[in-house]
Amino acid sequence: YAAKRRRDGVVGYDVSLDGGDTNRLTLLSELRQGVERGELVVYYQPKVELATGATCGAEALVRWQHPERGLLAPGVFVPLAEESGLIDLITADVLEQALAQIAEWERSGHELPVSVNIPARSLADDTFPLMIVDALARHGVRPGLLTLEITESAVIGDTQRAGEVLQELRAYGVKISIDDFGTGYSSIAHLRDMPPHELKIDRSFVMRMSENSRDETIVRAVVDLGKNLHLRVVAEGVEDESAMRALRDLGCHEAQGYHISRPLPAADLTVWLDRAGSPDLAITAV
Ligand code: C2E
Ligand code: MG
Ligand code: MG
Ligand code: MG
Repeated sequence: YAAKRRRDGVVGYDVSLDGGDTNRLTLLSELRQGVERGELVVYYQPKVELATGATCGAEALVRWQHPERGLLAPGVFVPLAEESGLIDLITADVLEQALAQIAEWERSGHELPVSVNIPARSLADDTFPLMIVDALARHGVRPGLLTLEITESAVIGDTQRAGEVLQELRAYGVKISIDDFGTGYSSIAHLRDMPPHELKIDRSFVMRMSENSRDETIVRAVVDLGKNLHLRVVAEGVEDESAMRALRDLGCHEAQGYHISRPLPAADLTVWLDRAGSPDLAITAV
């Protein structure tokens, strides 16, 4: 089979997994097994505060260390997992690993907030808030160190219920972020119905903002919207210094992207934290 490696070394596309129900079924059963065997690995991509350059958090990004196919990007298996319901198992696994890591960083003197991606449809599950609360308690992690990045790949059936679930979690102290804001199903209505703490501007706008003035205008409008609603505004997909500077000038709070650092294995992020986010590590670490 032919597989395409991305710039960050992860297999982002694999033709042998294209189309065909047989391929999908094979992958799905391998994935179920893989989760049970502990083949999911969590990488962490640091986020910096634009005003100071300080590392202010990290996003947990899942990869699958497949025994034959290599390190697979979430784009290869998360959509399939979402369709099949296997995603709940993946969410629970990533959450476990991320909370254990937050606790470990805390023990070594780094208090680092971590964001975990949550598919919006999980919010319809009545047991979801309890799962989060239980996992936090077991790891002895303060709820404020956990941010849930809500990602939508489809319309949420029951937005009212989703709003209630998020409200419960907010009351408990967990932070809520709307991911990929401005694209797909991630709509402005959510700011009213499921008020978050944070807005994450989709990388498709940020990546092009240096060359395309329309993208820059959109980023500016989202930054203003977020700030006027007293939300934290994060830009993802910051790939160069000019985007970094533009975002700082717009008053965007935080940035995440290859220009700062690729997603890193936990041990490498620890080195990064020990060096207080030294910029030369960003270039060498892949
Ligand atoms: P996302 O949550 O929007 O995550 C950001 C994605 O942008 C990550 O891709 C990250 O590696 C990539 N990225 C970061 N900086 C740059 C940059 O400067 N340029 C470019 N071109 N890309 C950048 P990744 O790790 O492949 O994840 C893709 C998506 O898969 C995520 O998008 C998220 O929707 C989903 N995902 C990742 N981990 C999980 C997970 O644990 N659970 C769920 N349900 N979904 C996940
Ligand atoms: Mg995300
Ligand atoms: Mg995103
Ligand atoms: Mg995105």
